Amino acid sequence: MSLKIQVKNTRHGNPGVSGWYAILPEPDPPNVLQDDITADWLVIGGGFAGLSAARRLCQLRENESIVLLDSIRIGEGSSGRNSGFMIDLPHDISTDSYAGAVEQDVLQTRKNRYAIAFAAKAAEEFGFPQEVFNPCGKINAAATEKGDQHNREYIEHLKAMGEESTWLDAAEMKRITGSEYYLSGLLTPKTVTIQAAAYTRGFARGISRNVNIYEKTPVVALEHTNGVWHARTPNGSVKASKVILSVNGHLQSFGFMQRRLMHIFLYASMTRALSSAEVRKLGGEPSWGVAPANPFGSSVRKISGVGGHRVLMRNKFHFNSSMEATERDVQRAVRGHDRSFQRRFPMLKDVEMEYRWGGRLCLSWNNVPVFGEIEESLFAACCQNGLGVSKGTLAGILAAEYASGVRNSYIEDYLNEAQPTRLPPEPFVNIGANAYLNWQEWCAGLEK
Ligand SMILES: Cc1cc2nc3c(=O)[nH]c(=O)nc-3n(C[C@H](O)[C@H](O)[C@H](O)COP(=O)(O)OP(=O)(O)OC[C@H]3O[C@@H](n4cnc5c(N)ncnc54)[C@H](O)[C@@H]3O)c2cc1C
Repeated sequence: MSLKIQVKNTRHGNPGVSGWYAILPEPDPPNVLQDDITADWLVIGGGFAGLSAARRLCQLRENESIVLLDSIRIGEGSSGRNSGFMIDLPHDISTDSYAGAVEQDVLQTRKNRYAIAFAAKAAEEFGFPQEVFNPCGKINAAATEKGDQHNREYIEHLKAMGEESTWLDAAEMKRITGSEYYLSGLLTPKTVTIQAAAYTRGFARGISRNVNIYEKTPVVALEHTNGVWHARTPNGSVKASKVILSVNGHLQSFGFMQRRLMHIFLYASMTRALSSAEVRKLGGEPSWGVAPANPFGSSVRKISGVGGHRVLMRNKFHFNSSMEATERDVQRAVRGHDRSFQRRFPMLKDVEMEYRWGGRLCLSWNNVPVFGEIEESLFAACCQNGLGVSKGTLAGILAAEYASGVRNSYIEDYLNEAQPTRLPPEPFVNIGANAYLNWQEWCAGLEK
């Protein structure tokens, strides 16, 4: 029996250069696959899921050969262009205050922390500095009475889960962020903030002793014959007996889960480096991370280190089933970033944004991942449902474990999930989803 998959879309579709990537030193030229090679394992996709899967395979299958392919540079994709919150706690963006059912949230938190502990071990082993991997926690910041109320509801939920958190008043928020914009904040201490591109690039460098990584090497076809997978790329190919597919929403480009995956673009802007005088005017701590009390508000990061002191703003959701956004989409989406920035930081009125970009999330209607053996010896770690920094890491670890014959309760939970439900037909899904997102953003008001 033979199965042939033609990959329909190998374009990354991410508009703009992410500030995280741009402020890093130029990487070495990419290692592009130019030969026909053979390995025990092939990992397709070098984001959080693929990198974590490859590292877990190194731990479980010490003497076996592993190849990882990505169609772009590591760090250029969504894993290197997000807001960098590796979140441990419930973060259901479809509810007003991120909270879901208590029992389910306790279990998900345990799983997220398993992933964060794995990432922390790697960060330590690979020598990441604090600006790349910072276990400083996350503040859910409220700019309005309604946001403050969301935080109060969320704190009750956290108490029911047995989780610690610290309430911050307006003065504390100003001491940390330098901004008088926030009425209150809720600090949850176990989220890690990362420099997204430095983390993924550093992670790839760390595993490259044991994993052959090829960048700018898209898989254009995948064929299974006589128990062997054969992945074709523009200038070469890889034969492997087992494959882990960690391409998030691009799973549908490989012919799986058609019309079951939702592709949502998020947009971010990063300022130029602040001068010393501007850093003094801003005040606050050198680095911090603020998520909005209302899920449709603005995430803000203040960073310092390589690239200087900068501020990142992230807001605006846009459903786009084509999986491709344009520079025009970015320009349209980021106009609001300048307003959100000025509202929070009037003392930085002359500071302009240097980088603007967009990137993709993959969600399913019923909030389930795509995980497990989707064809013989072909394993999926896809559809992270929005919390991809932790959940992508987790899915990658578990896919490597499952494919290696390990069994545990987390894997069982993933295997027991339903499959993503079918989406309504176009254009209804597009119109409906964007109307919902725009409405939620409007309701977020000054939290945006
Ligand atoms: C602006 C923004 C802010 C965000 N903020 C956060 C946040 O703070 N916290 C959080 O948890 N999540 C956040 N996210 C979401 C998070 O970035 C994603 O969920 C996460 O990157 C998913 O990881 P992944 O490894 O599954 O997929 P990806 O990061 O998308 O990696 C998949 C890789 O597969 C490669 N690929 C695809 N097709 C092929 C092919 N044919 N051949 C070879 N390679 C291929 C791609 O190039 C890509 O590098 C944010 C996203 C954006 C855009």
